[in-house]
Amino acid sequence: MTNAAVIVAAGRGSRATAATSGPKQYELLSDKTVLQHSIQPFLDHQSIDLVQVVIHPEDQSLYDQSVQANPKILPVTVGGATRQASVLCGLMALQSTQPAKVLIHDAARPFLKPSTIDQLLSALKTSPGAISALPVSDTLKSQTSEPTAKIAATIDRSALWRALTPQAFNYQAILAAHQAASSSTDLPFTDDASIAEAANIDVALVEGDPHNFKITTPGDLALARQLVAARPLEPRVGQGYDVHKFTEGSHVTLCGIDVPHTHKLDGHSDADVAMHALTDAILGAIGDGDIGQHFPPTDEQWRGAASDIFLKDAVARVAAKDGRLSNVDVTIVCEAPKIGPHREAMRAELAKIIGIEIDRVGVKATTSERLGFTGRREGIAAMATATVLLSSD
Ligand code: MG
Repeated sequence: MTNAAVIVAAGRGSRATAATSGPKQYELLSDKTVLQHSIQPFLDHQSIDLVQVVIHPEDQSLYDQSVQANPKILPVTVGGATRQASVLCGLMALQSTQPAKVLIHDAARPFLKPSTIDQLLSALKTSPGAISALPVSDTLKSQTSEPTAKIAATIDRSALWRALTPQAFNYQAILAAHQAASSSTDLPFTDDASIAEAANIDVALVEGDPHNFKITTPGDLALARQLVAARPLEPRVGQGYDVHKFTEGSHVTLCGIDVPHTHKLDGHSDADVAMHALTDAILGAIGDGDIGQHFPPTDEQWRGAASDIFLKDAVARVAAKDGRLSNVDVTIVCEAPKIGPHREAMRAELAKIIGIEIDRVGVKATTSERLGFTGRREGIAAMATATVLLSSD
């Protein structure tokens, strides 16, 4: 049983931006667009299998620059003249995959929490529709018809809710309701629950999260930027350890630098023991297995491979979690070769591969006082730590 999300990003929505800039969903919040922020909770959620984004026909290149490829994301589809028409385009595009349930979400709501997705999917077990909504807490007034607004009455707010997104439905039911509504002469419906209501589909109200607001005005965009900038970052530390033995050869590769030596290191790849330890440290910091799991030594394609592919993969996994490497530190244990003359080249190489400043990269070396396997010059050991900063909310 598959669950899909439709992200409606086809609006021109330029009220939040300067006249010279484009639609708000392509504005940056920190280093990612509003749209990428809005899609991400669905990509990260285990119960969501497919994401269908609906864009404006003029926005293909903005979209391509905005959204990182992900196996869950289906090819984009182009929307219509109204939000309602665009949602229908998204629902129609899902017909070939026939999801059981669909969550429809505004691209301009970048602060969706995974718990809201859980609550909506849970509510769909007993109701064909469920929306995220907030009870109205302000006192509500209606106005007179005079030119200068005056209060006509105070409205009882006790049974009133503000409808947010996502709005979640059984896929077949909401598709049929949207198709029926598309030929209706009523004014465009402003949300999907109203279309469900018109089709007599029961829709449950699930209390949502006030942070899941819609960016509409320049003030909203400024607030969204402040919220992203103020997100607390949690440091995560990982460690790695590796050993490779010597075999016949003329140089060893350590931290990506070839160092002349009486032997080389034996291994399936280039046997860069230091880079392997560092790769494991980074994977450890984000709790994502180890180098052998992602690049099995039984796989022929990694034979003789330069180890920077392993390190780059670990760095990409950190980026995919929206994390940032703060610093790394490597210790190489051997009697020979001497590391000191190559230390700065090693630091520079690691800094370049990881994409951090060189003062965040430590490379150190020690002998083991001729004790043990490294002391007997049978091989080289390496240890590493890495600190990753991850958003803690
Ligand atoms: Mg290794």
